[in-house]
Amino acid sequence: MKKLLAAFSAAILAFTLASCGTQKQSVSVEAMDTFMKIEYYGDESVGEKLTGEIKRLDSLFSVTDKNSEVYALNRDKEVKPSDDLSALLKRSLTLCDRLDGALDVTILPVVEKWGFLNGKYRVPDKQEIQSALKAVNYKNIEVDNDKVKLKNNAKLDLGAVAKGYAADKCLEILSDNNVETSLLNLGGTIAVHGRKPDGTPWRVGIADPDNPSDYIGFVSCSDKVVATSGGYERYFEKDGRRYIHIIDTQTGFPSDNGIASVTVISDSGTLSDALSTALFVKGLDGAREYHRDNPDFDYVILTADKKLYISEGIVNDFTLSESDRYEVVKN
Ligand code: ADP
Ligand code: MG
Repeated sequence: MKKLLAAFSAAILAFTLASCGTQKQSVSVEAMDTFMKIEYYGDESVGEKLTGEIKRLDSLFSVTDKNSEVYALNRDKEVKPSDDLSALLKRSLTLCDRLDGALDVTILPVVEKWGFLNGKYRVPDKQEIQSALKAVNYKNIEVDNDKVKLKNNAKLDLGAVAKGYAADKCLEILSDNNVETSLLNLGGTIAVHGRKPDGTPWRVGIADPDNPSDYIGFVSCSDKVVATSGGYERYFEKDGRRYIHIIDTQTGFPSDNGIASVTVISDSGTLSDALSTALFVKGLDGAREYHRDNPDFDYVILTADKKLYISEGIVNDFTLSESDRYEVVKN
């Protein structure tokens, strides 16, 4: 339910004009543990291609579906990968490395300990976490064209990047089918393609972590993927503490570093999705330092003390909502 809310809240400003020669279409699909909605101007048949593609990717990347490719890999420790698994793994491993392991696609054993996989939430003791952490290291994944291998009990979890990759694949389909205007909301990962029919750029809302059906502000952009990671998306509370589904790979504990949400805006869905999770883990200083060295994206970082840090490349395209609860800090 939370996921559903977050998906809606992550935000769409609907198409405002009725037509520009082609028809407005809208399709939705439940996949990757979230609710997804796609709007575009074009042929009705494109919608089926898009939802079909998302379902196909879900059935490859799901960690819980016993028929998925990732499930088979985690069970058998070796598979002959599909082109998609191979492509997403290669891209992810480069990013895990570049992010010094703040993103680690072998985090699954730790995610399982906290109950985020089956919804039976619990606080594991330190020893349990330590032993689960031993299996976490993306370097235990070996990929070549006809084989993927997991070493040292590693288990794969593409949860941090799968929606971004799905966004990239959907954008390819839209472009192959000559669709010039579309808005994809894949549960917090939002792709905007082209401009609105009236020629103005899209405005993508950034959810208010305290009230995810509301927005702290809007980013105007075209041909970008905007991904947000927030503790509000999935969490549980125990003894007055909140435990979120984004894990600090150094400690094995849910990230708890004063970040409320990280939004990343870039040309690539996979990159935006990976970075929104990883920069959340890195924290404010780590995220800003990473951006200085890798300026191929923009960010909006919201801290628990209600400050907003916006990268220079996007600051003029960001509008704060009416709310005066947030203070924009100039970088
Ligand atoms: P959401 O799925 O809510 O949009 P994210 O894109 O931030 O959120 O991905 C969170 C998911 O990624 C978690 O559910 C978990 O499966 C996985 N994960 C959590 N922490 C990490 C991490 N540090 N590195 C890689 N994957 C992670
Ligand atoms: Mg992510």
